[in-house]
Amino acid sequence: MNTNQLSERLAMVASFVPNQTVLADIGSDHAYLPCYLMNKGKIRKAIAGEVVTGPFEAATRNVDLHGFADRIEVRLANGLQAIEDADHVETVTIAGMGGTLITSILEAGKNRLKHVQRIIAQPNLHAIAIREWAVANGFIIVDEEILQEDSKIYEVLVLERGTADYTRTDLLVGPVLRRKLSTVFRAKWEREMLEWQRVIKALDNAEPTEEIKQKKANIQENIELVRKVLAHEEK
Ligand code: SAM
Repeated sequence: MNTNQLSERLAMVASFVPNQTVLADIGSDHAYLPCYLMNKGKIRKAIAGEVVTGPFEAATRNVDLHGFADRIEVRLANGLQAIEDADHVETVTIAGMGGTLITSILEAGKNRLKHVQRIIAQPNLHAIAIREWAVANGFIIVDEEILQEDSKIYEVLVLERGTADYTRTDLLVGPVLRRKLSTVFRAKWEREMLEWQRVIKALDNAEPTEEIKQKKANIQENIELVRKVLAHEEK
């Protein structure tokens, strides 16, 4: 992967970045995403935020190498603390981390989102945490994609400001993804259901405490919700 050629996963994230936006890429690592977008002339300005020194230095080198230092600022910062009010950041990308970490970054820094109109999140797993955060914080899910790369399945969530009534199924599998019902989406949830069934079998051998019973009931409920989505039984 380099600045001209992103992974399919990051290219999918890039495809949702609005034209000529001011971007903050949080957890930017080598700053491949902002450099790629600047190279294509797709963004006006960017902040590449990194909390770890090694990736921060790699990002700085990459930005310098491409002569983008006047338009991409690399900042050593924890999460959304990379964003200052005066930056007028309109779009935030957070990719390649777990959904729980992405959610905690959004929650911890939500006061930095004042000018932000769009958040593009690419969780490696547990996308439900981001959807729940969105609902609780005045965002809706305007688009979603799912893709497979090197046998791994990734989801990309696009959030914008608004309110919506999502069902538990929407939050679990994605309100947009469930309507698209793609082959990769099916594969992800068929895989997940097998895993849930394996967990239920394991729990059958455990002492049936209230906690175990509740856990089993939750998993069984999820299996039923997903089964209905895949069978087109749930509207
Ligand atoms: N975003 C790139 C991508 O999708 O390919 C890099 C993903 S890499 C797996 C995750 C990066 O996020 C690492 O470089 C890590 O140091 C950084 N990171 C993790 N927690 C962070 C935080 N709280 N604030 C900023 N960066 C963070």
